[in-house]
Amino acid sequence: MTSPEKKHLAVVGAGIVGVCVALQLLRDGHRVTLIDRGSPGEGTSFGNASVVEPHGIVPVPTPGVLWQVPKYLMDPLGPLAIRWSYLPRLAPWLARFVWNSRPSRVKRNTAALHAILQPVLESYAELIKWAGAEDMLRERGWLAVAEGEGAWKSTLHHAEIYRRHGVPLTVLKPEEIRQYEPAFQAQAVGAVYFPKVAHVVDNFRFVQMLAERATRLGASLQRDEIVDIELADGRVAALRSREKRYACDGLVICAGAWSKMLTRRLGYRPPLDTERGYHITVPKPGFELRMPVLSADRGFVATPLEIGLRVAGTDELGGLKLPPNWERAEVIRRNVRRWFPQLNDEGYSRWMGFRPSLPDSVPVVGPAPRVANAWLAFGHGHLGLTMGARTGQLIADLVAGRDPGIDMRAYRADRF
Ligand SMILES: Cc1cc2nc3c(=O)[nH]c(=O)nc-3n(C[C@H](O)[C@H](O)[C@H](O)COP(=O)(O)OP(=O)(O)OC[C@H]3O[C@@H](n4cnc5c(N)ncnc54)[C@H](O)[C@@H]3O)c2cc1C
Repeated sequence: MTSPEKKHLAVVGAGIVGVCVALQLLRDGHRVTLIDRGSPGEGTSFGNASVVEPHGIVPVPTPGVLWQVPKYLMDPLGPLAIRWSYLPRLAPWLARFVWNSRPSRVKRNTAALHAILQPVLESYAELIKWAGAEDMLRERGWLAVAEGEGAWKSTLHHAEIYRRHGVPLTVLKPEEIRQYEPAFQAQAVGAVYFPKVAHVVDNFRFVQMLAERATRLGASLQRDEIVDIELADGRVAALRSREKRYACDGLVICAGAWSKMLTRRLGYRPPLDTERGYHITVPKPGFELRMPVLSADRGFVATPLEIGLRVAGTDELGGLKLPPNWERAEVIRRNVRRWFPQLNDEGYSRWMGFRPSLPDSVPVVGPAPRVANAWLAFGHGHLGLTMGARTGQLIADLVAGRDPGIDMRAYRADRF
């Protein structure tokens, strides 16, 4: 029996966001059913760059982006590319994306990201201590390296914005880069070192471990696909898969890039699309990086994981259904070989994943419009791992009716 103030909540989606939401709800004493059609962490959370990046406050849409669109269409292997055949479906999202690149919107979106990102390391420290998943996070900082003058100019511009928001960083000359990362061999114009950045030693194992902790703490983990939501008197009464019915007192949708299929059942259609990203993972690279290294020119990050070297990133606007363009993963491989000619890439694997992206780069974290007992947590774009624990905390506060301590209007679903 659940006590009146404690609810039975169904959380759909066991990616990093869903497992963190489930844990924070369990921490508040709720009963939790966590449902995923696959095994926890097999969605986008499987293959990211594994970086917890509290300073990632600059949204993707910024001034000048409009003029770049033809370039994105012409170069399918560039750091940001648009698949031609997807353009008609993407157009409404792209229009909002361009709208969000105006200076006033960038300012607003930066402020929203700053408020949610600032305490992410503390949120993780607290959550993993409580859940007993220590030793997965390493706080070794990261390096953003620029090889061309254009990338260097924009790196310094971003560094200035970060500084204004209190982010600690050090600007490095080319000859200083190897003191921080001895394995780096390419010619660079400069780099910025950010000490307050952490990485997870294996992002997939991390999600699996957190999900396992959630079940040990009482959550019921169900491998099932939710295809319908039953509403009664403007409230969620139950979820339905093809074979089962899950009665619940409330619902949290954490289904990443697929969330729209579920919110539709609540009468809400967010402008959610996907920025597809690729990775290669090299099991025995033959050297060890000290910390993650970002290519400011080419949009990928090389991260030392316990399973090898992960090199992940780039951005392809192509929806959920088009097949991967594996040449993009090959481009990542060729570029990382230039950085680390000593790399042994034998036995490497490649992957493509779907960042859940809203056109302002700000996630939806808040109540579902018009449905009293449903909450939404999706659209974390490039920073879902970073924001996982913090999102869980905010959702738990909203469910409990506690003050989350920040203005939640910026993350509301009805802002669009
Ligand atoms: C190349 C790349 C690099 C990245 N690097 C980083 C990084 O370094 N740091 C960072 O913070 N972020 C990074 N990201 C972004 C990050 O990976 C995502 O934002 C994050 O994984 C999103 O998590 P999620 O839980 O919202 O979604 P997912 O991990 O996709 O989880 C959603 C889950 O919902 C389930 N689901 C969907 N629909 C249903 C349904 N109807 N019924 C049941 N289950 C359902 C899916 O099976 C899935 O498991 C990167 C992304 C990419 C692609």
